[in-house]
Amino acid sequence: KAKIIQNQNYYVFDTELKQCHHSLIKIEQDIATGIKNNEFSVYYQAKFNIDGSKIVGAEALIRWNHTDMGMISPCKFIPIAEKSGDINLIGRWVFEHVCKKLSEWKHNSYDLVPISINLSRVELYQPDLRQFLQNTVEKYGVDSKLIEIEITETTALNDVDFINRKIKDIKSLGIAISMDDFGTGNSTLSNLKLVDIDILKIDRTLVSDIENDLKSKEMVATIIELSKKLGLEVVCEGVENLEQVQILKHTKCDIIQGFVFARPVDSLEFEHMIKNK
Ligand code: C2E
Ligand code: MG
Ligand code: MG
Ligand code: MG
Repeated sequence: KAKIIQNQNYYVFDTELKQCHHSLIKIEQDIATGIKNNEFSVYYQAKFNIDGSKIVGAEALIRWNHTDMGMISPCKFIPIAEKSGDINLIGRWVFEHVCKKLSEWKHNSYDLVPISINLSRVELYQPDLRQFLQNTVEKYGVDSKLIEIEITETTALNDVDFINRKIKDIKSLGIAISMDDFGTGNSTLSNLKLVDIDILKIDRTLVSDIENDLKSKEMVATIIELSKKLGLEVVCEGVENLEQVQILKHTKCDIIQGFVFARPVDSLEFEHMIKNK
């Protein structure tokens, strides 16, 4: 776009901007109906032990197949939903969907693994969040030990007192808390002691270069070592190749989530993975 401005082709720039603006408005308007019309689904990305031989959990990731726009990435519609408030609809839909699946899988005697669900900061402000989580878990007879909630580092470290009250609420139900995207906010390691989390997820941006860059590698190694001293379970996100796996094995990372072992897949395919586990 910067190039277009340099060429003084303002017309093209302007229409492109307008179209983009229109699609953003359309996305905002269509979320609620999209949920009613079953346009959303949940994909599951397996998490593995360090050598990739065992599925130890999975992350639930929402997908939206819009009637006329096709697949829209959560990176695009989640921030919009957070602004409009529809994230509460989305979040509850995902949570209920996952609980329903867990109860289905239990009845089919699949090997159950904990499923983590992303929760936006906005959702933490809902006064009935704890009640909703409890009701839903009970409605489907789900063991709350099989559910984890992921909140991002930025969410977790903004207004720490408020967050800790919310974390306590959620943990009182037996649901574990994971800090997502660690290394992307502008926090420091000492912040890790401020919030009462159970699991730390080191972000892909920190992991992506460990096989080429000694500094990245040392940083990840230090975060893992400190986290373990603090009693946290560590997940490395966005692991894409076996060189990275090898390094993470040396640095004693417990859990790997990344394309190297599995991409996010629909529930049918995921069921296949845990059935044949
Ligand atoms: P996230 O929670 O950090 O989820 C991990 C993202 O990294 C997923 O993208 C996943 O597909 C991607 N990923 C996993 N392994 C690799 C890898 O090896 N390489 C690369 N390049 N990417 C990898 P996805 O599914 O597009 O989701 C993007 C973000 O959208 C999520 O980041 C999360 O912040 C948000 N999101 C997704 N589902 C939900 C949801 O149900 N609720 C909320 N509030 N946010 C969600
Ligand atoms: Mg996540
Ligand atoms: Mg993440
Ligand atoms: Mg992310």
